[in-house]
Amino acid sequence: MRYKSCRKIREGFNFYRSGVVSACCYAISQELNLARIDDANLPEKILLGQTRLIARHKHDDAPAVCRRCESFIEDEWRDAPALPFSRITLNHYKKCNLKCVHCGYRQGDDSEHDTDHGAVLAAIQACMDAKICSSSPYLEVGGGEPSLARGLEDIFKRALADNWKVLINSNGAKFSPLFAEGVNAGLFTLLLTPDAGTAKVYEKIKGVDYFDITWRNIGRYMAATSAKALVKFILEEGNKDDIPAMIETSLKYGVKNLVLSMDMNLSPERRRQFIPMIRDFCVRAAKRGLSVTPGAFLPAI
Ligand code: SF4
Ligand code: SF4
Repeated sequence: MRYKSCRKIREGFNFYRSGVVSACCYAISQELNLARIDDANLPEKILLGQTRLIARHKHDDAPAVCRRCESFIEDEWRDAPALPFSRITLNHYKKCNLKCVHCGYRQGDDSEHDTDHGAVLAAIQACMDAKICSSSPYLEVGGGEPSLARGLEDIFKRALADNWKVLINSNGAKFSPLFAEGVNAGLFTLLLTPDAGTAKVYEKIKGVDYFDITWRNIGRYMAATSAKALVKFILEEGNKDDIPAMIETSLKYGVKNLVLSMDMNLSPERRRQFIPMIRDFCVRAAKRGLSVTPGAFLPAI
């Protein structure tokens, strides 16, 4: 049957702050909360919660946050999750060394606290034991800055030991040998986000003067991974005139592969107005031998 729904709630779920397990990493709403991490019957609650949310989508009763979401699309959907869940997002912590203007995590409720990393790993194991979760899940790590989160290393080490694939979003302001090891093992995809090619723009949009530290670390990651780590630029109002410097600074630090995405806070109409800048980015990158992969929230060009 055709109706509006999303892939996220069929393929996985999200660990959030303050012990919350939620439907997805795209929106924060009580209506998307599935369970608390210390619930005795956590796997059953997660499965029941996603199944109920699918039913709400099917019966034209989707939460308001879903109706606004870009992933909420009309298609021929299955009426149940695709078990075992294969994708788990980790957004359960918020510590970060930057103050990016576009950051939704930083603007979160200050009363929220990090969920214990050990509890998250135990919950993943419980979901595997209950067979609702794949024994080799794909983890997407966002939240705050993962290189700073003490205890998160245990999840990365488990991923390395058990061949789990992990997508890590890091601002690059701290170098992690473990991230480089995971990239070299072919298990981790490391997305480094400097978002600027000049110190002035960096400080304006990141809120902290870490331009040199970050790019030096990016150079270290490139050397340590034979340039397999990726650099992502999120185009936004504050950096849209910095494109030539983004390309040249990437080259200077040995980057080979770029990802281009856009500030999710911009309206779809405003994002379309960025199309000439997106084209400029791609042309400049191609001329300098850099590959560009389209990332999230990029309008079709
Ligand atoms: S439609 Fe969007 S906000 Fe709603 S559950 Fe799916 S991904 Fe999350
Ligand atoms: S680096 Fe990431 S988590 Fe930290 S403030 Fe910037 S966008 Fe937010």
